[in-house]
Amino acid sequence: MKYPFLDLEKVNRPYMDLLHQAALDVISSGRYIGGGQVEEFEQMLRQMHSVDHAVGVSNGLDALRLILRAYIINGDLKPGDQVIVPANTYIATILAITDASLVPVLADVDLRTMNLSAATIEQVLNPRVKAIMLVHLYGRVAWDEDIRQIISTNGLIAIEDCAQAIGGRSAVEGLHGAHHAGALGHAGALSFYPTKNVGALGDAGAVLTHDARLAKTIRALANYGSDIRYHNIYQGFNCRLDPIQAAFLKVKLPFADRENADRHQRAMAYSHTISHPDIVTPVMSQTLVDNVWHQYVIRITNRDRDYFRRQLLENGVGTDVHYPVPPHMQPCYKIRLSNHIPLPNTERLSAEVVSLPISTGTTVAQAVEISNIINTL
Ligand SMILES: *Cc1c(COP(=O)(O)O)cnc(C)c1O
Repeated sequence: MKYPFLDLEKVNRPYMDLLHQAALDVISSGRYIGGGQVEEFEQMLRQMHSVDHAVGVSNGLDALRLILRAYIINGDLKPGDQVIVPANTYIATILAITDASLVPVLADVDLRTMNLSAATIEQVLNPRVKAIMLVHLYGRVAWDEDIRQIISTNGLIAIEDCAQAIGGRSAVEGLHGAHHAGALGHAGALSFYPTKNVGALGDAGAVLTHDARLAKTIRALANYGSDIRYHNIYQGFNCRLDPIQAAFLKVKLPFADRENADRHQRAMAYSHTISHPDIVTPVMSQTLVDNVWHQYVIRITNRDRDYFRRQLLENGVGTDVHYPVPPHMQPCYKIRLSNHIPLPNTERLSAEVVSLPISTGTTVAQAVEISNIINTL
């Protein structure tokens, strides 16, 4: 295929020598769980995000699960409490909520940003809501003055799912004065799944928080519930970050801003070149970093989305769909999540969206070529 959707080997090629060295360092260190690699990576995360606490964990879903379970252990949330979450998200966000015996309250999204807005949050706000899960979907930071106001006024716990938004910043400062996604609310979850903007060579994730007590509970919970060796205060899990992944991530994290800027260039190329009456391109950013373009998502209106994708494929262009079936329509949730308001925008998006190649494996010139192909369809 001339324009593959994502070629991870190509994305990692600039780092190959450093990744080889990082692997050798870990192999010859004899330290395969915890230790300096993990601690140094956590330090880099704290510095980058201006947060006091960062805990490396096994993956993004576990980061979200640990945050919610720790809030319950600490008494800040209790089972049955409601958590507002955008219906247009990857299912992992909602799996974490139900895993913690909390109740997801699905809110629709704004059709333009494809994320939560103050208006869609207010549609579902009620006294039983104790927390909100902000998902910066597709890399677009979902934070503004109005959302911040709703959180403060209602005393909500604000958790960010930053799996798609590492390096993103909001012009409006967060609850603790930080601007980075993951540091805007009370706690944030990062994913380093290989396809994310900063990808490990396997599963990896992290929790960021300003809350010392939460960080302490999460650290113990992720390590069999043990605070000190052979002393278990919680019925915990094994959700640790592997040192070999931490070593790989130490290589790649310093380049997060550069990788995101490269994605921004591709997004600009698409937005400037695509001019097709049946295609809606994503709203462009106010600042360079309020969207880190995890995906470049267009909407196909007035024609069959799958036919459009097939036509692109015939022209050598790989695409993807994020996501074809929203979580509330998945078999595992059809019945349990049936108690929600209508979600017209989420359901419309699931039928219309197409993600174009946006990684650094695609050049800016190729993004222009792909746009020109699109304009002929
Ligand atoms: C990838 C992703 C997750 C889960 O992260 P993993 O590391 O794959 O477990 C959660 N939420 C969103 C929005 C994601 O894109």
